[in-house]
Amino acid sequence: MPRYDLVILGGTVVLPGLGPVKMDVGVREGRIAALAESLAASDGGEVLDARGRHLLPGAVDSHFHVGIYRPHSEDARSESASAVSGGVTTILSYFRTGQHYLNKSGPYREIFPEVLAFSEGSFFSDYGYHIAPMTTAQLDEIPWLVEQGVPSFKYYMFYKALTLSADSTRGKDYAMADEYDLGHLYEIMVRVAEAARARKTRVSLSLHCENPELIRAFIARVKKQGSTGLRAYSEARPPLTERLSIHEAAVLATDTGCPVNLLHLSSAQAIEAGVEVRRRHPGHDMLLETTLHHLCLDHENTAGLTAKVNPPIRTRADQDVLWRHVLGGEIDTVVSDHACCMEEMKKGDTWTALPGFGGSSLLYPVLLSEGVRKRGLSLARAVELASTNPARRYGLFPRKGAIAVGSDADLALVDLEATRTVEAKGLHSAQDHTPFAGMSLTGWPVATVLRGRVVFRDGALQGPASGRFLKRPLA
Ligand SMILES: [Zn+2]
Repeated sequence: MPRYDLVILGGTVVLPGLGPVKMDVGVREGRIAALAESLAASDGGEVLDARGRHLLPGAVDSHFHVGIYRPHSEDARSESASAVSGGVTTILSYFRTGQHYLNKSGPYREIFPEVLAFSEGSFFSDYGYHIAPMTTAQLDEIPWLVEQGVPSFKYYMFYKALTLSADSTRGKDYAMADEYDLGHLYEIMVRVAEAARARKTRVSLSLHCENPELIRAFIARVKKQGSTGLRAYSEARPPLTERLSIHEAAVLATDTGCPVNLLHLSSAQAIEAGVEVRRRHPGHDMLLETTLHHLCLDHENTAGLTAKVNPPIRTRADQDVLWRHVLGGEIDTVVSDHACCMEEMKKGDTWTALPGFGGSSLLYPVLLSEGVRKRGLSLARAVELASTNPARRYGLFPRKGAIAVGSDADLALVDLEATRTVEAKGLHSAQDHTPFAGMSLTGWPVATVLRGRVVFRDGALQGPASGRFLKRPLA
């Protein structure tokens, strides 16, 4: 009888906080059971040859939108398949009531079990949810949701009631909400802070920071000029709107004691505001997140509305400032904000094309190519940004986000020398286009292991969708 179910031999293991070390890995019952200088092939029921390759902890993509524009189960299957092909082993997806998703409102006590039922058997990665309390009635469901394994919530600052959202629909109708304003945000924060104190664990609120009153004014200005396209879209929702929202959020968060995650900081103004509020409140728990598209797309070089997203794609200069803060250690997590949005949905004009697109499978390739190779980001730091930090902050560490004895054997085997040009069909997603098309990236996962089972290898999925719901915090 072999000692391990799986041995991974001859690779270089990237240990978060430490960096690359030559090591063999033994896996038993889905967990890492040994990290050793040398194991024998005969020690494993199965052997994965890692010579010349690097072994990274599977990425934890903590910003995802399963089911936003397509049926939930179908979207979970195709988009988690895409994620796994890029070395992502855990997806934390946002869910809310209102338009899109299940296109209805009501109590989460009824709707969240539906979401879990749609999810069961549909994910190739492990998965969890962040939930957005949209209505006054849902505020009282926060403690119940925490008990269900959802210790992270969301508020969209640009859906404020009775103001125009960017989609030119009434924000309130879109959200199917009664009072979706700063008062609602305050009430969420009070309850999240209470839950955090009661559970003695990190319970947090994620914030989409853009200000709708300013967006309304800037859209009117841009329309008057007659400009269209990606640059016009950015000018219609300028960085100023992010900066103002970040400051508003920080005032309320520090007053209520609510831990917050400032999501998808897209611009120099946004990251600088994030760094500034954190510096002003050093004891306060604030996570700063950016996305891979804000790190590698800009509206000077990227044509077309397929890259329309909120907050918008910015300038090359914004991108450089974001990288500086990734390298400087101020940015905690890099995510995809993956939302499968077909080319058809991107038709129409600057204002009516749907926002969002997929990118989860490019999370590691972009960090490895644009970060490690081009800008001198360390491998250890790349792994922290994509795996360890999100695992820590969202109640998954050390089961996820680490290569350590006892951790789940969630691993991305990476060829740091492999160069590929991005094209939609190579991403294993249902999305029929990609705004990243044409990028040449060096550093690609060649195999992905989920709880000790190879789930992706040689360009193809292996076996059924075996992802599990992660009730957080994980024991
Ligand atoms: Zn998002």
